[in-house]
Amino acid sequence: MSTTGFTGHAHTAHEPAHVHTEIPLRHDWTVAETRALYELPLLELVYRAQSVHRSVWKDNKVQLCSLLSIKTGGCPEDCGYCPQAARYQTGVKAEKLMAVPEVLEAAKTAREAGATRFCMGAAWREVKDGPQFDSVIEMVKGVKTLGMEACCTLGMVTDSQAKRLKDAGLDAYNHNLDTSEGHYGDIISTRTYDDRLKTLARVRNAGIGVCCGGIIGLGESIDDRCHMMVTLANQPQHPESVPVNALVPVKGTPLADNERVDSLEMVRTIAVARILMPASMVRLSAGRSQMNEEAQLLCMMAGANSVFFGDKLLTTGNPEYEQDMSLFERAGLKPLEPNVDKPQQQ
Ligand code: SF4
Repeated sequence: MSTTGFTGHAHTAHEPAHVHTEIPLRHDWTVAETRALYELPLLELVYRAQSVHRSVWKDNKVQLCSLLSIKTGGCPEDCGYCPQAARYQTGVKAEKLMAVPEVLEAAKTAREAGATRFCMGAAWREVKDGPQFDSVIEMVKGVKTLGMEACCTLGMVTDSQAKRLKDAGLDAYNHNLDTSEGHYGDIISTRTYDDRLKTLARVRNAGIGVCCGGIIGLGESIDDRCHMMVTLANQPQHPESVPVNALVPVKGTPLADNERVDSLEMVRTIAVARILMPASMVRLSAGRSQMNEEAQLLCMMAGANSVFFGDKLLTTGNPEYEQDMSLFERAGLKPLEPNVDKPQQQ
């Protein structure tokens, strides 16, 4: 078993600098042992995940993040779960890239609502150099000026684009693997798993934090889920951020009729992510609103230490936002301060 030897208060050049753990960060997980974890009795699995979690994340806080779609719809890709793909009739209209001041206004609102990380998503296959990318660079700079962590998800990037994002202050780039390599072709045909991994490597090489996770409920097997987790954990460096999503089936997409994901499957997936990647932020992401409060808390017991508000959730008087705040208050959940999961500065 090779580990990075990441113990005590030392860290290697390949691990996040923001947490200190006695637990070695492994990069040699097998699918068989991951599956054995996944299939443990649920409370045993949650207990193990929580033990790992507490040994690393001693203050046990939960980060609030806000996700804004800065360019919605009209995407040329064919991700089978996505209402923004132009080829599916989902009622999502293609919009233009939002203006910089509008985005920064939304970031301010998110900050006032307690968010410390602001994620900007564009429905692009890849970034194209030009005025639109220039605007995104301004958005990143503006979000940093607000004192928030800035994350983008813009599709594939080149080395020079990754460098520009890094120079603008970008903390993290989201680029999900979605599912296992074996199942990928059933969900997306317009790009390959290898394309994904290449973009992730470019982001990593530019010194930007990696945000990379997946979606369950895409018709994958348990082994597929384990394969995906193993692919994430066996990268030379664990992603600093691992979003775990449950499919929200949308009418008009090829996966519209998929069965809803059982919340306990989300709990298991999160617990496995926490055990395999102890020092990463594990984010309970899409599909949370379909879960009851108890299931959400169980996900946090299993190691989720971040949740998202959608942009529409931030207007005052919105019941979902108020419900979230009420859950935090009743459960005594402490929100995390900003800048905890920056990648190590070289
Ligand atoms: S690349 Fe992103 S926006 Fe485009 S179809 Fe896939 S998930 Fe949707």
